[in-house]
Amino acid sequence: MTDLKRTWAEIDLDALAHNYRTIREKAGRNVKFLGVVKADAYGHGALRISKTLARLGADYLAVSSLDEAEELRIGGVELPLLILGHTPPTQVDKLIKYGITQTVTCEAKAYEYQAEAEKLGEKLKIHIKLDTGMSRLGFLCADSHFDECIKAIARSVSLPNLDVEGIFTHFAVSDEIGDQNREYTMKQFDLFMSVISALEKQGVTFRIRHCANSGAFANYPETYLDMVRPGLLTYGYGEYAKKLGLLPVMSEKTVIGTIKVLDKDTSISYGRLFTTSGRQRVGVLPIGYADGLFRSLSNGCALQLPYGKTKILGRICMDMCMIDLGDYPQSEVGDEVEIFGKNNPVESLAEYAGTIPYEIVCAVSKRVPRVFMEDGKVIERELGLKL
Ligand SMILES: *Cc1c(COP(=O)(O)O)cnc(C)c1O
Repeated sequence: MTDLKRTWAEIDLDALAHNYRTIREKAGRNVKFLGVVKADAYGHGALRISKTLARLGADYLAVSSLDEAEELRIGGVELPLLILGHTPPTQVDKLIKYGITQTVTCEAKAYEYQAEAEKLGEKLKIHIKLDTGMSRLGFLCADSHFDECIKAIARSVSLPNLDVEGIFTHFAVSDEIGDQNREYTMKQFDLFMSVISALEKQGVTFRIRHCANSGAFANYPETYLDMVRPGLLTYGYGEYAKKLGLLPVMSEKTVIGTIKVLDKDTSISYGRLFTTSGRQRVGVLPIGYADGLFRSLSNGCALQLPYGKTKILGRICMDMCMIDLGDYPQSEVGDEVEIFGKNNPVESLAEYAGTIPYEIVCAVSKRVPRVFMEDGKVIERELGLKL
């Protein structure tokens, strides 16, 4: 990495393969695996992650929008691809051209997609989404909505130009422990199963029923059904990843760019949050909030040096931040700093910033090159900037 002397993110494809195999083994042989690669594969680089998952044997991939799906198709990814979010009906031609599966979240959208597919004389592959308690996307089906929901889905799936492959729902608290969360998750799951069985009674069946996100995958094996879709676990983050023996895929690294020894009573960075209490050795790192290093990690967040831990001093700037080198007289310009990764878990940064690992990895910005590693060697580099 000697010619990459700014900030980069190493993506460990061996860790990804390990996680994939571990998840598959726990899922069991008759359960399909959907790789969630939305948001540029949680910041890891959607194209390379998708190709790796395809090679490993994944059955399906999911993204959040048509643009994300197109990126993968143009990049040569041929796996079945589900768009979890909304696509305007005017884009049905693209969905069909690229062979992309669209989520249908209400009856009105089913009719809109049907009309467009009919005009083209083609069939659009779809999955029905149920809202069992997220109050986000999907046919409402709880309580007073139940009967109408069954009728609306039955009408939707009978439309001639829709090829109905699957049905799914999404959990709100499957990753949180406690009786109330278990009860809520089970209520969502039972509702999902009741809708499916009410439809079955009318002869409406689905080839792929799926609902297990990372939390449900870790905590509720009964929810695996025909396919699981754990995102975060695939990338190896969160408390359940650790319990399942999964490995973090991304390590964000930078180098010490400058070293200076400040006098006593010298303040550091904007807002002067930190002032030296004696002569102090300080490192300047070429990473800031524009790289995705949240400003809320300022003045105290721990980072990893080759010789031990250190802390960010003062405010994180747009392109730089300062660290304490007081304990490390041996430190030199060019020494590597792990922002997060195998030695400095992303979970610690998330906790410090009052957020979740998802947000930290998704925030690693496009000017941070992704360096893909396999068997300890760099196999590809990818920079999101348009050069
Ligand atoms: C993002 C997403 C997932 C994956 O969630 P994780 O918590 O990362 O496992 C699964 N299903 C849907 C519908 C999603 O939007």
